[in-house]
Amino acid sequence: MVHIDGSKGEGGGQVLRTSLALSLVTGTPFQMVDIRAGRSKPGLLRQHLTAVKAAAAVGRAEVSGAELHSRELTFRPRGIQPGDYHFAVGTAGSSTLVLQTVLPALLSASGPSTLVLEGGTHNPAAPPFDFLSRAYLPLVRRMGPQVEASLDRPGFFPAGGGRFRVSVRPAPLSPLHLLERGEVRRRQATALIAQVPYDVARRELETVGRVLGWEESERRVEELKRSAGPGNVLSLEIESEHVTEVFTAFGERGVRAEDVARAAAEEARVYLEAGVPVGHHLCDQLLLLLALARGGSFRTLPLDGHALTQVETFAHFLDVKVSVEELDPRVRLITVG
Ligand code: ATP
Repeated sequence: MVHIDGSKGEGGGQVLRTSLALSLVTGTPFQMVDIRAGRSKPGLLRQHLTAVKAAAAVGRAEVSGAELHSRELTFRPRGIQPGDYHFAVGTAGSSTLVLQTVLPALLSASGPSTLVLEGGTHNPAAPPFDFLSRAYLPLVRRMGPQVEASLDRPGFFPAGGGRFRVSVRPAPLSPLHLLERGEVRRRQATALIAQVPYDVARRELETVGRVLGWEESERRVEELKRSAGPGNVLSLEIESEHVTEVFTAFGERGVRAEDVARAAAEEARVYLEAGVPVGHHLCDQLLLLLALARGGSFRTLPLDGHALTQVETFAHFLDVKVSVEELDPRVRLITVG
């Protein structure tokens, strides 16, 4: 039984999700205390509880402490069970983070699986669906397993009501080396609006034009006629020769459209100027895949707290070495082996 202090590192939900994922894959039971101690509402929120229950279903696990607001959890997996799963967060909590928890196990299962996930699909502090489908899953496929995702309808905070589907055909993960980005081939800014004035999208896209110099032909509005509640998401997709990255900002009541757009544009600008293939969010998610593949390397930006917490969590379950080398002040080389 591995003992994990959930307050370490970031003290957020990531250490819990990564522990569940690695416990399933390695068959190692764990006990976690002080879950999400670093957050203003500590313990298991609806989204984390759904992730725990999803992991328990996929791993036929014996669990104690799987209750709302619980700060302690014991999880004993008893073998990965591929199959057809339906997981609903029940609130606008992120359903993509539920996928993040169980996907590694299903990638290595003995047969194919399908999943229907319900909840938020475009949440702050979680992978938006477009990032999953355009940036993350293509890299998973490159490593071997075949995973496809399709969006039935988006769900935004606070109304939720989103749904997406995933199909998984497992295969052993092979190491991935992503050292070069190559030439940028396509840039696409999309301002998604649902029950939000068109002008918000127009101002966001104008800001992207001003800050990044993207042409009008590279900017578009997507207006959703039907959604459970209002939402506004600006996503910037950068397709390069060797990788696609997606940077996202979320419209919020009281935050000017220009400021929302500047946040995403700034992230994209830092990425473009550093010349790396992998941005911050892709980094922490790719690290887990490479750790499971027991090998790989990529160039990325200086590591943030999420990525460092990931690496600390691996050490509880895997005998894998992650090295971080500073190539220049803006660029790090990650090697997993
Ligand atoms: P909580 O404690 O509330 O669960 P957390 O601190 O664990 O939150 P984060 O670490 O902020 O949550 O993020 C969770 C995951 O979502 C990470 O894997 C992160 O890379 C990913 N993520 C967050 N924002 C984005 C984004 N804009 N694009 C892609 N991935 C994102």
